[in-house]
Amino acid sequence: MAGRTIEIEEHITVGALADQLMIPATKLIAELFKNGIMATINERIDYDTAQIIVEELGLEVELTRKAEESAIPKREKRSTSETAQTRPPVVAVMGHVDHGKTSLLDAIRGAEVAKGEAGGITQHISAYQIEHGDRKITFLDTPGHEAFAALREHGAQLTDLVIIVVAADDGMKPQTLEAIRFARKADVKMVIAINKMDKEGADPNRIKQQLSENDLLVEEWGGDTVVVEVSAKTKQNIDKLLDMVLLVADVEDLRAEYNGPAKGLVIESHMETGRGPVAEALVEQGTLRVGDYVVAGSGYGKVRNLESTFHKPLKEATPSTPVVITGFKALPEFGDEFTVVENEKEARARSTETKSSKGSNGGLQMDSSELLRIINRSIELQELNIIVKADVQGSLTSVIDSLKTLNTDEVAVRVVGSGVGSITENDLHLAHTSKAIIYAFNVSVPSNIKQHASRDRVSIRSFKVIYELIDDAKSELSELLSPEVIETDLGRLVVKGIFKTTKTEVICGGEVTKGKLTVPALARVMRGNETIAEVEVTNLKRGPQDAKEVVEGEMCGVSLKTTGRVNLEEGDKIEFFKREAVSRTL
Ligand code: GDP
Repeated sequence: MAGRTIEIEEHITVGALADQLMIPATKLIAELFKNGIMATINERIDYDTAQIIVEELGLEVELTRKAEESAIPKREKRSTSETAQTRPPVVAVMGHVDHGKTSLLDAIRGAEVAKGEAGGITQHISAYQIEHGDRKITFLDTPGHEAFAALREHGAQLTDLVIIVVAADDGMKPQTLEAIRFARKADVKMVIAINKMDKEGADPNRIKQQLSENDLLVEEWGGDTVVVEVSAKTKQNIDKLLDMVLLVADVEDLRAEYNGPAKGLVIESHMETGRGPVAEALVEQGTLRVGDYVVAGSGYGKVRNLESTFHKPLKEATPSTPVVITGFKALPEFGDEFTVVENEKEARARSTETKSSKGSNGGLQMDSSELLRIINRSIELQELNIIVKADVQGSLTSVIDSLKTLNTDEVAVRVVGSGVGSITENDLHLAHTSKAIIYAFNVSVPSNIKQHASRDRVSIRSFKVIYELIDDAKSELSELLSPEVIETDLGRLVVKGIFKTTKTEVICGGEVTKGKLTVPALARVMRGNETIAEVEVTNLKRGPQDAKEVVEGEMCGVSLKTTGRVNLEEGDKIEFFKREAVSRTL
């Protein structure tokens, strides 16, 4: 494409993009709208979406991604302060689906955790810390696509090192390459785990070859890419993998300030009966203690309990430690920064500040694959716009996945927004503009939100049981199904005489040879086997009297409304029928 080249970052607001493109924001909003995206001027769209829209607009402009450094905000990995101390590395596991990310995380967790802390092992957690030798390593335990999406948004701030899992019997796949690109872009070190070494057909050399084709030359071939051949199943070399993780981390010289008020990131949050809002967070600097006042997004509170993610009570949590915090007054959201402040007054003030300054995209996800799906969709499809908010990422994913199973060729749910945590003003705003229903799964609805929702006529439906939520969406979708048209035969009349014929009307008489004729009804005029007209029956007469119905064997007069001249002949048959629209259910 000829013309200008514009550099944009991974995300850009609609307003800023319109400025760059030198077109009115309204034009951009309209184009987004045409493509099924309801976005306001302050809303952020991602690079891929922007690119599609620019192409759709047919502008002589080429988009390029701005240099990586600015695309992802970096965390201060190495505190320069003199009192900073070494901190454990934070590690994410990424790779192609089915290559064994979950198994590997389980193997690491099982091997190390079982030694000391029991309990909570089967439960989903978003991060955990293990001890390896006398060192600690923190793992982010959100494998699969969720992890990718989450890491893309927040990962670079969280992760020091990525273990890229490649199945020895399968080799490098698109998601493997994606993970490598991610790690490079976020400037985090990689350790390659060639997994499933126990399997027949395991071919580590092929993978090393593929790695070198992607500029990752392994150490044994003279490069600096660290590769460990493992099996999550037999636990072969898991220890070695952890050794390597620590070795690579050491080169990074990860440090943080342990003294002073804690800061970190919320990585999961949910409501718990008896405990209220519960947040899992990763401490990034300082030391978090029971009794500290914390602010996270629009939530604040005093730390009541501090636990490891395996539910071991803690008095304090130092950098790189994942902790479970209770004591928040409102549920903070995934991705919220938390900060310890002096006192309750400041906590309250800061949380209000966050509330009002938060971007209009808070807690919502919309990605380019969704957009492409919408673009490729036929326009006849009827869609139900919904926003899903759930207590934890796991249930959010299940709700969305279950909702998608309801889709048919005719009707489909379209998730215009989703997120973990309670319903926010932004959700309401999006629901209002996109005419979406908000489904709240296991999350509370604050009373001010309820009020605003009823003011804006936004429907919020709260559920605690997945199938009830799905049933509700199902009945909403059923409403969108175009009704089924059902025809019921009533009876037949054989024409014996024609009394009047105009362009719009025929009056004739005849004998009912089958069934029961009623009025009003529709009818087909048949000559032999051929339909010569479809007409509306407006009146029936038995003798001089109007009749509601006439039965087989009776003679009657009939008035027909036609849409053109119908030259009826004696011996033609008129088949009476009713046509009804019957609503359908899924
Ligand atoms: P993920 O999609 O990357 O999280 O992959 P999973 O951990 O769910 O593993 C996918 C499949 O591979 C499962 O059936 C695992 O049991 C199997 N698997 C994972 N690691 C190994 C391994 O080291 N050896 C063998 N033989 N199978 C494995």
